Amino acid sequence: EEKDAAKLADSSPGSLSGFRDFEGNDSLEHFIKKKVRVWCLLHNGLWELGEIISTSGERASVVLPNRSVVTVPFRELLPANPVIVEGVDELIRLHYLNEPSVLHNLHYRYCRDNIYSKAGPVLLAVNPFKDVQLYGNDLVTAYKQKLLDSPHIYAIADTAYNEMMTDEKNQSIVISGESGAGKTETAKFAMKYLAALDGSCGGIESKVLQASYILEAFGNAKTSMNDNSSRFGKLIEIQFSPTGRICGAKLQTLVQLAQGERSYHVFYQLCAGAPSVLRGRLKLKRACDYSYLNQSGCVEIHDVDDSLKFQILMGALNMVGISKEDQEHAFEMISAVLWLGNISFQVVDNENHIEVVADEAVTNAASLIGCSSWDLMHALSSCRIQDGKEEVTKRLKLRKARDTRDALAKFIYANLFDWLVEEINSALAVSKQQSGKSISIIDIPGFESLEKNSFEQFCMNYDHERLQQLFIQHLFKLVQEECEVDGIDWTKVDFVDNQDCLDLFEKRPCGIISLLEEESNFPHATALTFASKLKQHLNTHNCFKGHRDGAFTVHHSSREVLYDSGGFLDKNRDQLHIDIIQLLSSCTSRLPQFFASVMLKESQLACQQHSVATKFKGQLFKLMQHLKSTTPHFIYCIKPNSKQLPGEFEKDLVLKQLRSYGVLAAVRISRSGYPTQIAHQEFARRYGFLLPEYNVCQDPLTSSVEILQQFNILPEMYQVGFTKLYFRAGQIGALEEVRKRA
Ligand code: ATP
Ligand code: MG
Repeated sequence: EEKDAAKLADSSPGSLSGFRDFEGNDSLEHFIKKKVRVWCLLHNGLWELGEIISTSGERASVVLPNRSVVTVPFRELLPANPVIVEGVDELIRLHYLNEPSVLHNLHYRYCRDNIYSKAGPVLLAVNPFKDVQLYGNDLVTAYKQKLLDSPHIYAIADTAYNEMMTDEKNQSIVISGESGAGKTETAKFAMKYLAALDGSCGGIESKVLQASYILEAFGNAKTSMNDNSSRFGKLIEIQFSPTGRICGAKLQTLVQLAQGERSYHVFYQLCAGAPSVLRGRLKLKRACDYSYLNQSGCVEIHDVDDSLKFQILMGALNMVGISKEDQEHAFEMISAVLWLGNISFQVVDNENHIEVVADEAVTNAASLIGCSSWDLMHALSSCRIQDGKEEVTKRLKLRKARDTRDALAKFIYANLFDWLVEEINSALAVSKQQSGKSISIIDIPGFESLEKNSFEQFCMNYDHERLQQLFIQHLFKLVQEECEVDGIDWTKVDFVDNQDCLDLFEKRPCGIISLLEEESNFPHATALTFASKLKQHLNTHNCFKGHRDGAFTVHHSSREVLYDSGGFLDKNRDQLHIDIIQLLSSCTSRLPQFFASVMLKESQLACQQHSVATKFKGQLFKLMQHLKSTTPHFIYCIKPNSKQLPGEFEKDLVLKQLRSYGVLAAVRISRSGYPTQIAHQEFARRYGFLLPEYNVCQDPLTSSVEILQQFNILPEMYQVGFTKLYFRAGQIGALEEVRKRA
């Protein structure tokens, strides 16, 4: 029965624990008699607290706080929690775990700047969008010395550290959440805590913090959701010496996602902040003079000084130990990308064939990447193709030429990012004899379902499924262990597995990714041929539904998402034609040459060039493999409103996120069949005085058992564990009544 409730959890909105909560001791009559508060669903779709005054048939009359009375069907009522548990920091302690109760609890806490709560083993962090004074060194010390145990990112980092030291097992902190929910900030607080723990070897901990600043400059961009949105997923493995000091770090990144409304921060920072000598050497102009930067109409971010940020970036590059020479190479590439964007084309015939306009854009771009203007112009305006046995050079048409130019710019930037990650890795690398254990912090984009979902959401939601599986498996293990440790009867808790959905993505040869790969290799494939291929192979899969217009629906473990197949093939192919690669390998600058050689090596190794999705899958597998060897700690960041404003809590938005992450189902599983769990001691203290003869000195277990007998709690309604008592729903409510009357 309990299992059904857990299953029911996500399927019907509003009814996580559902009406069943009104059964037994918590019957509706009881609620009326005792004037207990209920949640009632109003016409506007919101849940409001009220009190039932009467019932008739299947409907109840409820009086609301403003004294108005509404009549609603029973199914639109849910039990509300007693005031004593209002604002509890662990959702597990709520008597009723329905959606309005959980939202109310989070909102209640949010209003008091308590942004952290526990949901079973998961830490929930609601983004405050303001400085909440929760991260000072005094708090670091307090958590370190265990003076505080309220939910906090520091508490998680502390647990991870201690488990690493005592269990000798690597740990990971997995941070998920929508864009703008606070993952990257949370990751930084976790690092700050670890860095502050135990001194370190040679200032490496501040290097690690600076490294994430560099990554943000090169990998983050402003989007409509977040002024500082990470456009890549990352794992930072912080390595500790056997004595528990930070001695190094290693980064792993996931393919970059498309940029948002502004491009990567570093472009603007360089334009705004480069000193004049560098400006001259890089032929730099203002950000608004570059077409890659000025087209979105968003050059500046409110309250952000790009020039100052550039100084900080330079500081970080120096501190991490990236050589001056390498820094300059990197900036050359950035400038080259900007100038490439300004290259224009002139149509020369009525078939739309083009010539490159020979202006300063071409000259500058060419000199920065280290080739002749003529070579660059040639590569951007023509391509060689095989015509039978002969190779012919064809002039490009306008659209193709623009695509080639943009692909080249993207290629340079993406490779620059990867190169930088490797540079940072070698700067932070640990010598073999020093290394002991590690804590990895994972910050990857979470589940996303927009009105129109494309390739980016597809990748994000796929990685979300992978993490979700890790989460489910971990949770399951925890519940099992807790029951075993406490010696209570362990009946297998049923949990919703997402293997089906993962198969839909990964199965070979007929999962979506394989089919996408296959279709991307056909030059004449289109969005529609791709969509119909999916439909043909997958329509019988219970997580998939193809539609006529090229769209398709995936039943993710949290909810359905409708994807538009348009753009999938192009974004997935993302290939440069061979002439461009050859151009780069012949460049005199070090980086373009290096990028080309990496590319050639990769394609030789793989026989065939891999598409973006397949690469992504490979990186994700590597990441998962690493995670599986660790003890994970999960954090779900929650975005309280879409305006990036403090103090606003949009319940609908929060609820959507809680559902996506299966948070409540998780709490439910954690409580398994026994939602109320109380330590013997606490139980004896709270109810002991109700016994006719209560001996305070008696051992708490004995008192507890006496209380249970005194009040005729049926044996099937509870279990006695070694440390705690486990109760079925509603049992404690009855005891509370007696206590109140006493
Ligand atoms: P994305 O997926 O787009 O990268 P994200 O989840 O990493 O989003 P962050 O960049 O971490 O989101 O957070 C967005 C903004 O929210 C931050 O720039 C900051 O202003 C604010 N913020 C997040 N967490 C906190 C916090 N704990 N205290 C104060 N402000 C915060
Ligand atoms: Mg981020």
